[in-house]
Amino acid sequence: MRGDTSSCAIRRFLVAVLLCFGVVGGATAGAKLDDPTVSLAFVGDIMLDGIPGDTVKGERDPFAHFARILDAADIRIGNLECVIASEGRAERKPFTFRADPRTVNVLKGHFTALSLANNHTGDFGRAAFSEMLNLLEVQKLSYFGGGRNLAEAHAPLLIERNGLKIAILGYNEIFPRSFEANHDTPGLAWSEDEQVITDIQNARKVHHADLVIPFMHWGLEHEPHASARQRRLARTMIDAGANAVIGGHPHVTQDIEQYKGSPIFYSLGNFVFDGFKDEDNITGWLIRLEMDRKGVHRWQLYVAHIDHQGIPHPASPKARSCWQRGQRVGAICG
Ligand SMILES: [Zn+2]
Repeated sequence: MRGDTSSCAIRRFLVAVLLCFGVVGGATAGAKLDDPTVSLAFVGDIMLDGIPGDTVKGERDPFAHFARILDAADIRIGNLECVIASEGRAERKPFTFRADPRTVNVLKGHFTALSLANNHTGDFGRAAFSEMLNLLEVQKLSYFGGGRNLAEAHAPLLIERNGLKIAILGYNEIFPRSFEANHDTPGLAWSEDEQVITDIQNARKVHHADLVIPFMHWGLEHEPHASARQRRLARTMIDAGANAVIGGHPHVTQDIEQYKGSPIFYSLGNFVFDGFKDEDNITGWLIRLEMDRKGVHRWQLYVAHIDHQGIPHPASPKARSCWQRGQRVGAICG
């Protein structure tokens, strides 16, 4: 029931915006843009095993319906909720996802970088994780939140566009913790508050980033509201210097908050994922941030409906809603 899904998503979004913006408030009214500017698109979980994997094997593109919206952003980022490898053996856990190496080429066609910090990139062991790093590097598709050792996993991905240097960090706090990188073993970046704060501060001090965005894998599955833990850490990250916080993992979208002028999108929900039927699970968000040197000056949201093959379709070619600097309450635009 596509119509029901859409109205449900819009209703939830409006409630989230009214609740959060109404209480916390926005930035300075009438503020001017601080040139230059850069646009970034973020999507949630991309799982390329199962039917979406078969789609790629059939030489069809799971991202085709969102190509125009993705391509319109200077920087395009998603969470890779699987390992990409031909080797490895499934870990003992309820769900394990492994995508065919040919998916890298399809991802490269749409994304600037992928987060590896989640509870599935380690599903087929460290050798498969390393194979994925090699495959991504060969195709020159950037990644963050994971690496060949602990230092690499915690290093920011630095992207320069339009004269701005953007640091992207990725962290996972969903078990198993055994997927974490070690001093000399590959894996992902685990979300430890103290380390996250240090990494954000270093992105500015050591790497001279103008803008810093952490992409989190956190929260309770199928829970539409962020937990106290998520809220506390998100605010701590902004206090440490993050300009926006993006999250995922719950398989549903969660509420949006504004803190000290910076937006927090607690969960973008699924993006490419099969096997879900409930409306909440087959509705995801693409968030488009427009940023200047001071941070986010405007954001827009596109609703994705995920079909029974796990493929996302835009609810509308236009953004459903937006916020811009100076507004206290979110407004519908488009
Ligand atoms: Zn997850």
